[in-house]
Amino acid sequence: MELYIHIPFCARKCSYCDFLSFAGKESCMEKYGEALLRDIRSHGGFLLKDTSVSSIYIGGGTPSLMPEGFYERLLEEIKVSFALQKDVEISIECNPGTVNPDKLKEYRIAGINRISFGTQSADDRELQLLGRIHTWKDCVQSVRMAREAGFDNINIDLMMNLPGQTKDTFARTLAEAISLAPEHISAYSLILEEGTAFYEQYAGHPELLPDDAQAAETYETAVRILAEAGYGQYEISNFAKPGRECRHNIGYWRREEYLGIGIGAASLLEECRYRVETDLQGYLGALTYEPAEHLSEHDIRDEAVMLGLRMNEGISVSELNERFGSAYAQCFTGKMKNYVSQGLAFSRNGRYGLTVRGMLVSNSIIVDLME
Ligand code: SF4
Repeated sequence: MELYIHIPFCARKCSYCDFLSFAGKESCMEKYGEALLRDIRSHGGFLLKDTSVSSIYIGGGTPSLMPEGFYERLLEEIKVSFALQKDVEISIECNPGTVNPDKLKEYRIAGINRISFGTQSADDRELQLLGRIHTWKDCVQSVRMAREAGFDNINIDLMMNLPGQTKDTFARTLAEAISLAPEHISAYSLILEEGTAFYEQYAGHPELLPDDAQAAETYETAVRILAEAGYGQYEISNFAKPGRECRHNIGYWRREEYLGIGIGAASLLEECRYRVETDLQGYLGALTYEPAEHLSEHDIRDEAVMLGLRMNEGISVSELNERFGSAYAQCFTGKMKNYVSQGLAFSRNGRYGLTVRGMLVSNSIIVDLME
């Protein structure tokens, strides 16, 4: 099982962000930390004591804003409440500009062994446009400090298709990121989410954003540059040095069970999806879930195909056959053969997956496969 811990605090709200995160709520941090410990105790102690945890992901928000000493307590509580696998992967998301050598040392002592920096761009003009609180110099320093603190598994998050960005400017960002030698790089495309400042600004002005052809060029360039630098692509947006793929995310794409702790966090347990309520004050008072969603066979199949095709390993036809029956496996195979003939998919060792060109149009392929 994978464990996810949500920390919803941020120093400032970025212009494009619709994650469940708040700026200016620092006064709630301590109480929130206590509420997380309460939930870990109750889930681990009563419900899932014997379930073994293979990865823990502390995400947000900006987890690196939590008070000193908090993660030692958190990890201690997790170790007491759950059975952790010996080589458990424990990741924390940090924003450059919010870490220092003492915090990073504390994370290592607590047992955190992977760190993910939300760097987004190596171009200070783009960082400012995104509403980020840091500069590229802060990112370089943060990665250096993490190395000095003993982290040997570092991720850098980057964003593609920003206003005014071209494949060449993104290639420069990639070159800077690669020069820091992280073990893992994620490169996500900007999505305009309703309710954000970016949505207001750009939804009515698509001409200010890269068009589909430019986005495709940027993506193909990124995949090539990363491959040349030794980062294997294992998912649409994720690239890693050999053996450094993020175990937590792979578990999610393979539909392994996960437990989410903290406000708004989702869980998938016994094919049922739960989500903790999203109201901060309510959550501080008591753990409350939104109504559970019982997934039907159809939902499970669609989700397995949607997530499986995100990964470069693709989907095994024999597993589909075993799990969802021969009629669906045959239908899937027929459609995928068609995509292979168009150069959008590949077939290898009994599996079908998407080529780089196929990943660019993955949404329409997935919709077709769900019909
Ligand atoms: S730091 Fe991350 S979670 Fe916080 S506002 Fe920015 S993008 Fe959203």
